Amino acid sequence: MAHPRRDNALSRLGAHRTRPLGHFIDGQAVDGEGQAFDVTEPATGEVLGQARDATEAELNAAVAAAKSAFPAWAAISGDRRRALLHRVADLIVARADEIAETECLDAGQCWRFMSKAALRGAENFRYFADLAPGAADGQSLPAADHLNFTTRHPIGPVAVITPWNTPFMLSTWKIAPALAAGCTVVHKPAEWSPYSARLLVEIAHEAGLPPGVLNSINGLGETTGRRLTEHPGIKAVAFVGESKTGSAIMRQGSQTLKRVHFELGGKNPVVVFDDADLDKALDAAIFMIYSLNGQRCTSSSRLLVQRSIYEGFIARAAERVKRLNVGDPFDPATEVGPLIHPRHLDKVASYTEIARQDGARIVVGGERIAGSGYFFQPTLFADADASMRIAQEEIFGPVLTAMPFDDEADAISIANDVQYGLTAYVWTNDVGRALRVANALEAGMVWVNSENVRHLPTPFGGAKASGIGRDGGDWSFDFYMETKTVALAYGTHTVPRLGA
Ligand code: NAD
Repeated sequence: MAHPRRDNALSRLGAHRTRPLGHFIDGQAVDGEGQAFDVTEPATGEVLGQARDATEAELNAAVAAAKSAFPAWAAISGDRRRALLHRVADLIVARADEIAETECLDAGQCWRFMSKAALRGAENFRYFADLAPGAADGQSLPAADHLNFTTRHPIGPVAVITPWNTPFMLSTWKIAPALAAGCTVVHKPAEWSPYSARLLVEIAHEAGLPPGVLNSINGLGETTGRRLTEHPGIKAVAFVGESKTGSAIMRQGSQTLKRVHFELGGKNPVVVFDDADLDKALDAAIFMIYSLNGQRCTSSSRLLVQRSIYEGFIARAAERVKRLNVGDPFDPATEVGPLIHPRHLDKVASYTEIARQDGARIVVGGERIAGSGYFFQPTLFADADASMRIAQEEIFGPVLTAMPFDDEADAISIANDVQYGLTAYVWTNDVGRALRVANALEAGMVWVNSENVRHLPTPFGGAKASGIGRDGGDWSFDFYMETKTVALAYGTHTVPRLGA
């Protein structure tokens, strides 16, 4: 695959094509001495270079840097923090193309989405920059004999551990509020897509962030990720990834009583009633599952359609899926790019046989695309029922599972019959029904007559196995900060006297 943007991204890797990518600790790039692992390009299967798994000493150095930078960072004024974080946002905007090209290269994400995702990362920084001056604000809770008031204080050095699906945007989502709250950070990006994290830490330092405030270490989950979550110097872990990894992190952090914030997997329903605007519902359902190569936690991976319109809707969906433009992620016309890694391709591809054995209909796709790179055909399974694995498990690829429902109660029951509860999408023009269904759905976020359109002040997070905690506005600060209550006596009450 040849594209000028790919050439840019490759040449920018520069020395990292031959020398493994190390870490960024206490304001300095560190080569590292740990085991090197390959980083591949999903679109071609070529090895782009290597990155290093942090050694225990390197990880300890990153935590020590975050620890020693913490008191000064926690103490600087909110206004100064706001100015610095806006400067980070400015530099992200200035380098947005570079960031997006990097995501296309090592994550295989499509240019048409990544160019916006980098800018969204800047917006995350701006939004939390503006909240920084008020982060410590509390409440006044006066009682008869005491004036009680609360203040908030940054919890300390925190770990941010992120996945590979939209690496840059997701990391800003966690790192921006942590920094705005006054915490220092050790970030570990996913091993399959490590390059954009280096850009972020470089940008942050160019913007004037003091050394040690943001550190970035590379490595594998089972080694570096584990050590980071077990480290006594880390006070909280903000994690985005699979639900089973969340369970592991909870175990690993239990000895040191880590506070955890988890954004985990999803198997999100889009529920289409027969009175909906079916053209818009179709656009949204297709967009939410096939964009980002289907590797999207909020994807509409289960399509529930009212039986009266089911066959027609599936036929229209099938026509759209067949026409999706699959190819080079750098080409702005491409709608679906490759999957991240051969191991993930194997997992996604395995669901075709599972669907067949369970008796679902394979309407479109279901096969790997021959040639180099890890491409999988956009796939539509239909006539599923809630007991099938394709209706229960997060496939995390361009694969949509469709099934009919009879009425409102049936739709709610099928929609809730999974372990996950991240998002849900409801399509109906009956306002009462929209409210009833939204109320009954077990999900952290429900969109009615809309695809996922994120408004940054709203809480983002999942119910059930999809997560613990919420991101956004004050919800983020509650996680990254300790609330302290101070009770000041008016001098009017009598203190109980013992042994008097
Ligand atoms: P993953 O859980 O395999 O890995 C995520 C990160 O955790 C990586 O950096 C990895 O190295 C690290 N890790 C792995 N094992 C670890 C351990 N034992 N201790 C500490 N760290 C460890 O997830 P993935 O495959 O990279 O990402 C895909 C998953 O992320 C999907 O399930 C998707 O739904 C989820 N996701 C959720 C959201 C959300 O907001 N809910 C957003 C994006 C992705």
